[in-house]
Amino acid sequence: MKADYYETLGVARGADEKELKSAFRKLAMQYHPDKNPGDEKAEHKFKEIGEAYETLKDPNKRAAYDRFGHAAFENGGMGGGGGFGGAGGFADIFEDIFGEMMGGGRQRRSGGRERGADLRYNMEITLEEAYAGKTAQIRVPTSITCDECSGSGAKPGTSPVTCNTCGGSGRVRAAQGFFSIERTCPTCHGRGQTIKDPCTKCAGQGRITEERSLSVNIPAGIEDGTRIRLTGEGEAGVRGGPSGDLYIFLSLKPHEFFQRDGSDLYCKVPISMTTAALGGQFEVATLDGTQTRVKIPEGTQNAKQFRLKGKGMPVLRQPAMGDLYIQIAIETPQNLNKRQRELLEEFERVSSQDNSPQSSGFFARMKEFFEGLSE
Ligand SMILES: [Zn+2]
Ligand SMILES: [Zn+2]
Repeated sequence: MKADYYETLGVARGADEKELKSAFRKLAMQYHPDKNPGDEKAEHKFKEIGEAYETLKDPNKRAAYDRFGHAAFENGGMGGGGGFGGAGGFADIFEDIFGEMMGGGRQRRSGGRERGADLRYNMEITLEEAYAGKTAQIRVPTSITCDECSGSGAKPGTSPVTCNTCGGSGRVRAAQGFFSIERTCPTCHGRGQTIKDPCTKCAGQGRITEERSLSVNIPAGIEDGTRIRLTGEGEAGVRGGPSGDLYIFLSLKPHEFFQRDGSDLYCKVPISMTTAALGGQFEVATLDGTQTRVKIPEGTQNAKQFRLKGKGMPVLRQPAMGDLYIQIAIETPQNLNKRQRELLEEFERVSSQDNSPQSSGFFARMKEFFEGLSE
């Protein structure tokens, strides 16, 4: 008969995460095999504590346990898949709890091989460049594998030797307080090997810093905020580890005339009140390098949009093109001289409701509406 998990940890059934953790921690220290060498009872108790905590710290497993007891995890029952799976699983939670005391011992290394760091490169391009696409040459300072020693860090003709301090494991055990802890070997920094004659080119680091030139293909139609990954173009790995990746973060410079929305462009064009009233035309320059004539019919209202089909941005990796929208902004005349004022006053006098169907009678209609409400 297995002991109740809550009893094993000596906590109430309603114990919260913090209480569980603290109870586990206290008991794990007490029954740790390093503190009780050769004591099978302590070892058994230690495993029980681990199993109880492993189950109760997981809300799903805890709920299942609360409902079905140990049966929840037996015979391939729900959640547990056979329950607590021996030493491997326990090592993980042990590191969860004691990780901070182990000197960052969670970093797993094999012979000091480490993946190189990822690099970030910020690139700003113009809307014209995003329109046409381009191949950009960039220079990236990065550490690469030393060619002199092929990354071993040892002088050519010599090789690294097994570290005396840790015997090649990269880890040392030391007694501290109740039990012994494992930490990264201070002599070889976890590599398991030391170098007697360091390579002169890289000073034993196995890597050198170099500025590399890379060409980056920027496809036409690329969006602001796009991240381009160049696999393996980041920093070299340590001692033969794989290289990191290089990420290019693209941003678009704001354009003076065009605003972009996906593959469509918007261009605000101010026109005079008289052009809006009488009609007219103007030419807009577009990103394909041509000029396009836009005809303004008479009586054009403010904020009216004209669509120039296919004059927007290319759609990324497609043969399609977006559109360019011309947005009319009517400019009211300012700084009138005497003559202009007279003409406009004359115009006002001879105007009829037909000339301004929206504004004529607007306030009268509004007044009527609200008087109707109050009746
Ligand atoms: Zn070297
Ligand atoms: Zn060592």
